[in-house]
Amino acid sequence: MQVYDKLYIHGEWVASLGTGHIDVLSASTEEVMGRIPEGTVEDVDRAVRAARTAFDSWSTRPVEERAALLRRLQAGLTARQDELARTITGELGMPIALSKPIQVGTPIAVTGTYVQLLQDLSFEEQVGNSMVVREPVGVVACITPWNYPLHQTIAKVAPALAAGCTVVLKPSEVAPLNAFMLAEILHEAGVPPGVFNLVSGTGPVVGEALVRHPEVDMVSFTGSTRAGRRVSEVAAATVKRVSLELGGKSASIILDDANLKTAVKRSVGNCFLNSGQTCTAHTRLLVPRAQHEEAVKLAAEVAAGFTLGDPFKGEAKLGPVISDAQRTRVREYIQQGIREGAKLVAGGPEQPEGLPKGYYVKPTVFANVTPEMCIAQEEIFGPVLAIMPYDDEDDAVRIANSTIYGLAGGVWSEDVERAKRVARRMRTGQVDINGGRFNPLAPFGGYRQSGHGRELGRYGLEEFQELKAMQL
Ligand code: NAD
Repeated sequence: MQVYDKLYIHGEWVASLGTGHIDVLSASTEEVMGRIPEGTVEDVDRAVRAARTAFDSWSTRPVEERAALLRRLQAGLTARQDELARTITGELGMPIALSKPIQVGTPIAVTGTYVQLLQDLSFEEQVGNSMVVREPVGVVACITPWNYPLHQTIAKVAPALAAGCTVVLKPSEVAPLNAFMLAEILHEAGVPPGVFNLVSGTGPVVGEALVRHPEVDMVSFTGSTRAGRRVSEVAAATVKRVSLELGGKSASIILDDANLKTAVKRSVGNCFLNSGQTCTAHTRLLVPRAQHEEAVKLAAEVAAGFTLGDPFKGEAKLGPVISDAQRTRVREYIQQGIREGAKLVAGGPEQPEGLPKGYYVKPTVFANVTPEMCIAQEEIFGPVLAIMPYDDEDDAVRIANSTIYGLAGGVWSEDVERAKRVARRMRTGQVDINGGRFNPLAPFGGYRQSGHGRELGRYGLEEFQELKAMQL
């Protein structure tokens, strides 16, 4: 059991002013694996005041000092990477062999990019007779989801601290234990009191109290589009800056000259990563109509290779989804797909054989999916792939752009210039060409209802800065 009974405010572990707690369940055993305080509105107020008080000093510290803190943070994360990976695998269910490089390795790398960027970037420039300076935006509320919990947190906290902001973090109440470990690491790294604060609790209570608080200057939110809409509404009352990283329904377009086998294999893998609980997951696979049957056969074969099982054991390629609620939701979507007339070619809504415990969902593939179907429009957030035939390139682009989302996508073609032309027509924040790999320095974020604002690299740092012009 990992029990945390205190919040981290003004450099100290302090009891919540409330009495509630939240149990954290293991995705693979369904048993309680930890406990955290259920914070209150009063806890939020204390944390925001601590962050406000600390801002005056932290925002004026030399850049080298901020870089040094981040360097110590990176060392602390590295020292505890095994423990962090085990905790996240327990909370979330991602196989341990993947948790270490992805769930923990990525945040370590991202922290390193900010150490480097602080050395490389200049925060002032001359524009005509003006000196333009970049200043920290102020007190930032970071509200994060459960699917890549440490990565989502670091993608906000590292650039916010680098920019000179102070932070109050509210992690997801579903996978919060890693955030408490992060607070321990920051404390050991010598973060000054009030510069980083942690208040755990639910979205409607702690989350909304942060968004509403007049002393919070900015909300950096990652989560569902539904909660993002609510955050925007509440933040409007104090006209605070809001950055939203929301849901997605991304399309992988296989062009007719692509290597079909490789493209299908990699697209299915992309969709099923983290049991489909990835905001950028390529959950729609768009294939030329003439190659649809062949692509379906290949995808079903690849899906069959995704062995479900205990995420702590080596043989599992796919763990459970995070919770009972998520499992129910994903199964309902699978049933909806069947009702809508899509062809089920792998998986299905039943509990997988031999796994009576754990929130497992069979890796599922639908064929002959059409754009108006619910399973082609809504974010399922489970291991469910929709294969959709298209007529020509224009049709593929039209289908790819036909949801409310615009987070990510992929294009596969032997002709990279052709793939880039198609990628430019996709209304999304990122497009992977022929499976191009993740780049922590590239801007990350969405078009349309996938949100606004960008994380990572210098773009992520600039989110936390105000611009001031001094006319000389
Ligand atoms: P969620 O929206 O339920 O919760 C996200 C966070 O917001 C949690 O900390 C939650 O407590 C808080 N929250 C909920 N309601 C709130 C409110 N009214 N006010 C303030 N805070 C509130 O999302 P989730 O289920 O934790 O995560 C899955 C979702 O996150 C998916 O939709 C996924 O696509 C999205 N996501 C997006 C990105 C991205 O970068 N675009 C990355 C990861 C996840």
